[in-house]
Amino acid sequence: MTDKTSLDHAVEALRGLLADPKADAEPPPELQHHAGFAALYRDLSALRPHLTRICQGDLSHPIHEQGPLAGCRKSLQARLRHLTWQVQMVAAGDFSQRGESLGEFSTAFNEMTEALARARAELQRSEARYRLLAEHVADVIVTLDGEGRFLYVSPSAQALLGYAPDELAGRPLCDITPSAEAPRPGTVVELTVRCRDGTTRWAEVNTAALPPGAGDGAVLVCVFRDISARKRLESDLKHLATTDGLTGAYNRRSFVEVCGQELQRADRRARPTSLLLMDIDHFKRLNDRFGHAAGDEVLRQIVETGRRVLRSEDVVGRIGGDEFAVLLPATTLEQAGRVAEQLRTTYERLAVPARGGTATFTVSFGVAEWKPHLRTVEELLQRADRALYAAKNAGRNCVRTEEACGGRPQQDPPPQGRNCIVLKR
Ligand code: GH3
Ligand code: MG
Repeated sequence: MTDKTSLDHAVEALRGLLADPKADAEPPPELQHHAGFAALYRDLSALRPHLTRICQGDLSHPIHEQGPLAGCRKSLQARLRHLTWQVQMVAAGDFSQRGESLGEFSTAFNEMTEALARARAELQRSEARYRLLAEHVADVIVTLDGEGRFLYVSPSAQALLGYAPDELAGRPLCDITPSAEAPRPGTVVELTVRCRDGTTRWAEVNTAALPPGAGDGAVLVCVFRDISARKRLESDLKHLATTDGLTGAYNRRSFVEVCGQELQRADRRARPTSLLLMDIDHFKRLNDRFGHAAGDEVLRQIVETGRRVLRSEDVVGRIGGDEFAVLLPATTLEQAGRVAEQLRTTYERLAVPARGGTATFTVSFGVAEWKPHLRTVEELLQRADRALYAAKNAGRNCVRTEEACGGRPQQDPPPQGRNCIVLKR
């Protein structure tokens, strides 16, 4: 292959091998007799599939050849293998990996791992901050999965509910709340929670939806705040505002209010309802003789002993100094008269220990029945009051019903006054 034509031919064959992907792996037959050229052609030809495999990402193929070209391939293959391993390490969370010897690629790889390491450190700091918050607030913070089961439970659950966080994890929310349903996101609800020891407490529950893909399957975060003390206070205040401190009966305002609801129910169900008004006879004298404390005890006994005669649904109110009223649902005037008589004889027999002896007392009763034409509780009270007046006039310690009021006109004045609730127009 010394003449120019053969050399051109050989160059042409080599160009074809490098440029044409379909070029023959063997040198052209007319050039095969030149052993050196043929070996060079075959070496180059063998290089092609190796490079193609590396380009396609197949790094497993062993390279047996020797020489600088094969050395470069081996080196490239080894670096790419090492890089693959490094990427796997990064995927496993080892952001300390640093690339070398791959120029710009290594620089970009290193920037990426450093950015990941910084982001992770910031995330860890932020998580530590929030965990510290969650673990040191008195509120109980929980996360729930899609089925309403506890995932994260903050340590304050121990103080509010008596449960260690581990004991609640995996259990359904309804193990501690009255409803099987988790509160809706974006709501603040007040509910009772069951503690480990079986007691209940009031909690205000603030619920928010977690963004999708929170990681551990958490979809809701709920914050439980103990409001038992506030609820107790509210209930105490309500009790104070609605009841008479001495006897525990409703005060006048609440009695009228509760009676109003009861009478509306009576109208809806078309059932009879009656009212007793009772007033202690000569109570001033009792106070004078036995002292105010004995008088107070008599007032207490009026309610306490009276309740033993009455039913739980009967409504008792102290509507004046020594004046009490009882609303008797599902009771006719006649039945109410009998209840009043029973109370009268019960009180008559009572003996209240007092300074300087035993105090006895009697009570007068006026009874009236709710009528379709009546419109307010006050009107009913007025009717009973007229009957009570008749009982006092008849000599006290007796029961008078509105029917037996000695023919007094039953013309009721129009309802008036601040506490006067009009039930119908
Ligand atoms: P009557 O038979 O006409 O009803 O005579 P009375 O003496 O009971 O007269 P009235 O009902 O008008 O008197 C009510 C008395 O009740 C006046 C007051 O000294 C007394 N009283 C009012 N509130 C209390 C209280 O909280 N404790 C005591 N101990 N007495 C009270
Ligand atoms: Mg009296």
